[in-house]
Amino acid sequence: MANQRANTLHQFTSRLAKTKSVVVIEDLNVAGMLKNHHLSQAIGDVGFGTFRRQLTYKAAWYGCRVVVASRWEPSSKTCSGCGWVDSDLSLADRMFRCKQCGLLLDRDLNAAINLEHLAGSSPDRLNACGGESAGTPHKTCVKLSPMKQEPNTVYPSG
Ligand SMILES: [Zn+2]
Repeated sequence: MANQRANTLHQFTSRLAKTKSVVVIEDLNVAGMLKNHHLSQAIGDVGFGTFRRQLTYKAAWYGCRVVVASRWEPSSKTCSGCGWVDSDLSLADRMFRCKQCGLLLDRDLNAAINLEHLAGSSPDRLNACGGESAGTPHKTCVKLSPMKQEPNTVYPSG
C-alpha cells in the first residue's frame, strides 16, 4: 500500500514537472489541518509535504516553475470573474456564487482560476513561458489570461 502510494505520487509529480511550465500550489497549513480529526486522515494519505518536496526538486530538473500561493490568499472566497470576496463562504459550500457579477461555478475550480491569475501576475512569468524554453520537448506553455472563460463556468441568464 505504501509503495503504491509512493509510486503514484512520483508518477504524478514527474508528469507535472515534465509537462507544465508553471504549477501553482497553495501553502496550506498542513500541521494545523492534521489536528482536525475530520481532515487528518485524508491529508495524511495524500502526503502534501512529500508532494511539494518532489514537485519542487523535479521542477528544477525539468525547467518547470513552481509558484507558492500564501495560505492567506483568499483563493476560494474571491470571485475569479470580478474579484468580489464572499467572506461568508464556508467549507460546506461546494459552489461559488458571486453576488456581484452572478458567476456560478465549482468552488475548487474558482480557486484554481484565482491561483492561475496569481501565477500570471508574478514577475518571472516570462522566464517560464519565454522563447528560451520553446525548444524543450514535453514542455507546454500554460496560457495565463486573466479573464479567461472556463468551459464549465455558468453565468445565469438575465
Ligand atoms: Zn463576480
